[in-house]
Amino acid sequence: MIDTYEKVYYTELLPHEFQKRLKEKPVAYLPLGTLEWHGAHLPLGSDSIQSEGLMVACARQLGGIVMPPIYLGPDQAIQAQDGQTFYGMDSIPDTLPPRQLKGSCYWVSDGFFKLLIDMILIQIKRAGFQAVFADGHGPSRWSWVKDLPEREARFGLKLFGVTSDIKRKWKYQIDHAGQNETSIMLALRPELVDISKLPQDPSISPERILGKDPRQATDKLGKKYLDAAVNIIKEKFVKSGL
Ligand SMILES: [Zn+2]
Repeated sequence: MIDTYEKVYYTELLPHEFQKRLKEKPVAYLPLGTLEWHGAHLPLGSDSIQSEGLMVACARQLGGIVMPPIYLGPDQAIQAQDGQTFYGMDSIPDTLPPRQLKGSCYWVSDGFFKLLIDMILIQIKRAGFQAVFADGHGPSRWSWVKDLPEREARFGLKLFGVTSDIKRKWKYQIDHAGQNETSIMLALRPELVDISKLPQDPSISPERILGKDPRQATDKLGKKYLDAAVNIIKEKFVKSGL
């Protein structure tokens, strides 16, 4: 049987395949997704589906290994109520932002998230990786980027994320269930998107969406955002000698 499917998921690799890929390109991809409301038309796991989709495209084109998504994620809003921290959905007041609607879960504090990522980095380093690219869900992205220089020094790894030097041109996962994320989902997993759940009347704005109108999303746009993001990461790798 001819196997044309290139395995890039850490979870699918046999030990010798892992060693081979690691030797060829010692890069680990860490998709950061949370589980949260993404409009009436997108699945609750949209963040990890998108970040994983980007990482798989990077791994297939640039080499490297895709780690399992980190579904646990922080969010600024969860700690924004008079310094109080909310952990369970039932205890969160109705006045909180729409992303925390029922169906959203797996939220952790910023400190917990940092510790979790630290633990993963220790083991990524021990496995023999030399570099890590992590990205995805907004608050996870910001947390990752904030600690990048300190962690590079502490772990002796090259770390990549959506840093200030590329932020302007970065067009991947940049809204919340709007035209951007919806287009990306249409490009990656069209069978999971149901635009008919949004108001049919164009004069009625879809509720609880951040960004441009998701009804203007297309798979072509999504593919464009994906390809552009892979190219930006490719440039970053080349610049750093990877
Ligand atoms: Zn999202």
